[in-house]
Amino acid sequence: MDGAFPQRKIIHIDMDAFYASVEQRDHPEFRGKPVVVGGSPQSRGVVCAASYEARTFGIRSAIPCATAYRLCPEAVFVRPRFDVYKAVSQEIRRIFFHHTDLVEPLSLDEAFLDVTDNKSGNPSATWLANEIRAQILKRTDLTASAGVAPNKFLAKIASDINKPNGICVIPPTQAEAFIEQLPIGKFFGIGKATEKRMHALEIFKGADLKRFEEVDLIRLFGKAGAWYYRIARGIDTRPVKPHREAKSIGVEETFRHDIDNLAQLEHELDLIAQELARRLQKRKTRGKTITLKLRYDDFSTITRSGTQAQFMNDAESLAHVAKSLLRNSEAGQRKVRLLGITVSNLANRTMNETSQLLLPFGEDTY
Ligand SMILES: [Mg+2]
Repeated sequence: MDGAFPQRKIIHIDMDAFYASVEQRDHPEFRGKPVVVGGSPQSRGVVCAASYEARTFGIRSAIPCATAYRLCPEAVFVRPRFDVYKAVSQEIRRIFFHHTDLVEPLSLDEAFLDVTDNKSGNPSATWLANEIRAQILKRTDLTASAGVAPNKFLAKIASDINKPNGICVIPPTQAEAFIEQLPIGKFFGIGKATEKRMHALEIFKGADLKRFEEVDLIRLFGKAGAWYYRIARGIDTRPVKPHREAKSIGVEETFRHDIDNLAQLEHELDLIAQELARRLQKRKTRGKTITLKLRYDDFSTITRSGTQAQFMNDAESLAHVAKSLLRNSEAGQRKVRLLGITVSNLANRTMNETSQLLLPFGEDTY
């Protein structure tokens, strides 16, 4: 240990094909079959989740239901039952809190746990991750995968490696070697576009990224360059944050028919802004940054953001900013299938950063 890695024990738990697995659990006739959770194949909605059987046909979440139907017409299409998923989610969170208070849920089916100092008194994070997976199976009849590592970045990647129903442990001594062989597209915060740019720079793996000086990465990638520099060395000091407050509130609408008329799109923004204002006011919050999301008929999606000097939560101001952002897009020339407005940079957020315990631990008890 050279001190490059914060001495923490982080577990990332991720339920396997969560919504689809719940449906297969509750409907034995769906087991072993391709199951697609989302709208009907005729709807314009997108897939929320696909069972592993459905994935072999190339069906993934976020693709249109109609595309899923083309890929596998015999798949079972079911509507999501969010109340059931939420109940399961609460059950697994109760299990997490049994072991540590440092739980950061990322969604209904995923969470980071900091178990450096945990309630079970067992120093092994690996043992704990397996114990949690066993308890989840026992209580919910569902499987989960786990990643165990010295930071969030590595734990999240690890949980995906032996999925489904698997565990992957990256002890601190193996972290650097692991990152060196890691394909750049798997790095947190590196999307498709950045991956392409990195490939053009002959950066294919972590080891290639590590050859770049920090100043060069910042010159090439802006602020993100500093993050890439650190992450190539396994440095991720982001704490596991319990009681995460909403960072943004948004409303979006998929139209029944694509819209190419600018006046009509502006009218839709008025309606979305009214609903958004209602939600902001209900939560007694206001925000400074307005983000417009726009999806064209070919499914390409863009966002445009603007930060204002004043906090706002009234429909008129929200719509005003959103419309100026809309004029900054190709709306009116291209058909639009979805519009959304999100407000972030919220006021009245209570910061709840729990200080992390940094305890030394040996490799043998990782
Ligand atoms: Mg999952």
